[in-house]
Amino acid sequence: MVSRKWVLPVVSALIFLLAGGAFADDVLVGSCIYKFDDTFMTGVRNNMNAGAAELGVELEIMDSQNRQPVQNDQVDTYITKGVNALILNPVDRTAAGPLMEKAKAAGLPVVFINREPEADVMGAYDKTWYVGARAEESGIQSGELIVDYFKNNPKADKNGDGKIQYIMLKGEQGHQDATLRTEYSIKAIKEAGFEVEELGSDTANWDKVQGTDKMKGFIAAVGLDRIEAVLANNDDMALGAIEALKAEGYNKGDAAKYIPVVGVDATAPALAAMADGSMLGTVLNDAKNQGLAAIRIAAVSARGEVPNKENIGYEVTDNKYVWIPYVKVTIENYKDFMQQ
Ligand code: BGC
Ligand code: CA
Repeated sequence: MVSRKWVLPVVSALIFLLAGGAFADDVLVGSCIYKFDDTFMTGVRNNMNAGAAELGVELEIMDSQNRQPVQNDQVDTYITKGVNALILNPVDRTAAGPLMEKAKAAGLPVVFINREPEADVMGAYDKTWYVGARAEESGIQSGELIVDYFKNNPKADKNGDGKIQYIMLKGEQGHQDATLRTEYSIKAIKEAGFEVEELGSDTANWDKVQGTDKMKGFIAAVGLDRIEAVLANNDDMALGAIEALKAEGYNKGDAAKYIPVVGVDATAPALAAMADGSMLGTVLNDAKNQGLAAIRIAAVSARGEVPNKENIGYEVTDNKYVWIPYVKVTIENYKDFMQQ
């Protein structure tokens, strides 16, 4: 005889099956994130999970621990396991080709995120998509934050030479966001009519601790008095630089001891730093919409449909690209981005 305690769960499972739930949503998505210990990608990951729950698809996410060989093995494991789609954040952008080949050989849809594969990789398989943001845009917007500051505060040109003496903290080498944000932020400053002088520029690999270390090195090398602005390719490095400035008594409320620092991402700690006045501004890198777009493309393509504006809610350019816009975050609007 069937024990009574089983009756209720069995009946409710049957009702669920009859309602079509399990059959309609029998999709398993396998995802790899280049490393879990990345503030911005953690935001994307959380939103992918939220989106999967909303869509009723199963999503597994693995930490590639910043090692490409580990990630390659993880993708093999997913394929052997029989996932229906992949969402991949390559450790090394140039490894996207072999990852795409694996997906192609298995006939699986693959959505790349955050690290954009080269165009030839994107073009070599019709079930390849990319979700990201136009890095140039974020570069221009962060440059504009500095431009507006110097326009409104002529004394920010501390030595009065008509040039902006700056420090640049760059993201990981080879990442399109690092290259383009560096280039376009400075371009925007020059296009606004300012001359610039680079006092120091180095990679801090998107990392806060490395940002502090590099900034301390620059302070020691060129002197705090000469530095008029700090541009960082992301918020973690900007916050790292702010730590180094604070250790020297800067950016703690004394107007005579302030150096404008800008980042990109609009993470919660960056918005908090804007609120307390230690950080000038940032640019929203929209983790929510990037995460949602990625999981929706994976779900739709896993079911054999072609992702489009109607079924995923985002414009798909050239049948391959979903571009999520950046938004400039200033003291006027930063509160709108809190608790995203
Ligand atoms: C973000 C960084 C992040 C990197 C990871 C960039 O788009 O701005 O914060 O570390 O992606 O690939
Ligand atoms: Ca100057």
